[in-house]
Amino acid sequence: MVEIEYMAPASVEEAVKLLSVTDKPARIMAGGTDLIIQLKSQISHPHRVVDIKKIPQLQQTDLTTDELIIGPAQCCAELTARQDIKAVFPGLIESAYLIGSTQVQGRASIGGNLCNSSPAADTIPALIANAARCCITGAKGTREVPVEDFVTGVGRNCLEKDEILTAIKIKRPAPGTADAYLRMIPRTEMDIAVAGAGVSLTLDKDGSCTAARVAIGAVAPTALLVPAAAEALMGSRLDDDALEAAANAARDAAKPITDRRGTVEYRTHVVGVLVKRAAKIAAQRAKGN
Ligand SMILES: Cc1cc2nc3c(=O)[nH]c(=O)nc-3n(C[C@H](O)[C@H](O)[C@H](O)COP(=O)(O)OP(=O)(O)OC[C@H]3O[C@@H](n4cnc5c(N)ncnc54)[C@H](O)[C@@H]3O)c2cc1C
Repeated sequence: MVEIEYMAPASVEEAVKLLSVTDKPARIMAGGTDLIIQLKSQISHPHRVVDIKKIPQLQQTDLTTDELIIGPAQCCAELTARQDIKAVFPGLIESAYLIGSTQVQGRASIGGNLCNSSPAADTIPALIANAARCCITGAKGTREVPVEDFVTGVGRNCLEKDEILTAIKIKRPAPGTADAYLRMIPRTEMDIAVAGAGVSLTLDKDGSCTAARVAIGAVAPTALLVPAAAEALMGSRLDDDALEAAANAARDAAKPITDRRGTVEYRTHVVGVLVKRAAKIAAQRAKGN
């Protein structure tokens, strides 16, 4: 195990200072469910670990009349228990619920899932489908980044070394809008996705789709927003042709690899199936909104 200098600041300002003024490489820790594994297996030199779980602002999630403001360090167990949020963003809550076991849920956060920036992270396609924005604070000030631009590669994102993800914001959806997230795993318990799909769509009173966002995960180095899949759904009543066109657009956008969980061909096929199914679920839910 690597030598760790553990710090637990009480504010974002203090955390930024601890990240910027140090003679050792510094890492942020939220739940530690990714970080501790990485510190044990991939890192051999001394590190400063800045634990952000003691910062109240990062632990609190609010659903206001305008938007959802997710505290990025709040654990998934607390977040997924929020029935008020589930009623508005069922797909997002489903994606958080899929992370790990009960024990993992008690530590793991959506912010950590996003900042770990794995191609297979479950919450990222759901956040992209909901047009989430990432609020970031560092030594130079604050900025906001659309979630689809946050992750820049496998395990990489747009954060500078002294920057912290301080909130994830999502506008309250228009009436007639709902989301859904589905993933495929090769086992029945605790595995990561071979493919995932998040869909948010809006239906008018006649059941026609007036707005949509489709995102796919685990089939490219980063989760992808697929505008062509959304365009295939818009203007339709989610008939078979529109769903098939959306599935094919997702398959065209996918750039998967072959690994022990699935081949390129399998992942490409499955991601299309998931887009179709997630769109159908989102549409069913939207009819009730
Ligand atoms: C048994 C097991 C099963 C799992 N199953 C799944 C699964 O099914 N689906 C899935 O998607 N993931 C899964 N994971 C991965 C992991 O639990 C998630 O990625 C989790 O959401 C990470 O959150 P965390 O709070 O533990 O992050 P940490 O481990 O604390 O941090 C992860 C990374 O993000 C950085 N970071 C964290 N918060 C911030 C912040 N606010 N600002 C800047 N950087 C930050 C850290 O420096 C680190 O690099 C699993 C892990 C385990 C151990």
